[in-house]
Amino acid sequence: MPDSWESLKQECLLCRGCSLANTRTNVVFGDGATDAEILFVGEGPGQYEDEQGVPFVGRAGQLLDDMLAMIHLDRTKVYIANTVKCRPPQNRDPLNVEQEACLGWLRRQTALLRPKIIVCLGRIAAKELIKEDYRITAEHGQWFQRNGVHMTAIYHPSALLRDVTKRPETFEDLKSIQAHIRAICQHTQV
Ligand code: URA
Repeated sequence: MPDSWESLKQECLLCRGCSLANTRTNVVFGDGATDAEILFVGEGPGQYEDEQGVPFVGRAGQLLDDMLAMIHLDRTKVYIANTVKCRPPQNRDPLNVEQEACLGWLRRQTALLRPKIIVCLGRIAAKELIKEDYRITAEHGQWFQRNGVHMTAIYHPSALLRDVTKRPETFEDLKSIQAHIRAICQHTQV
């Protein structure tokens, strides 16, 4: 039987596909509009996301909301998920084996959403979804197509909190995302 959002979420909340299941508080399934034309993909939940079961609710999330607002977007107009749905201990990078174990959930979400545009937040998501040798410093803001979906990556909000000198380039990347939304999307007003 094909997935529905609710059945997929209920199945995902029970996942024990990797050892992150042993340390998580909550599975962070995703947030936003299930008919969104734009999918944002981060790295993995941090402490606050793990506590609340919602992606990007900590400081990086605050900044992500501000970045979305700069191009007239908010969480009711996009969908937000992560490469892994459970928090890696001590906020370490997710291991390849954890990403591989989790990728099926994101694929099934993407199949339901059928986004026109996917925006990777940071290197980890870009390596998983755009190409293995993706280099965020050299290639952020560039556009790729995968199976008819337009894809780009921008610096992760956490990187922008650590290094404010990256913010002007990110603003340009956000403007490019806005232009792509205007050109490609059918019901997303920006
Ligand atoms: N960083 C991420 O990559 N994802 C979150 O959900 C929160 C912080």
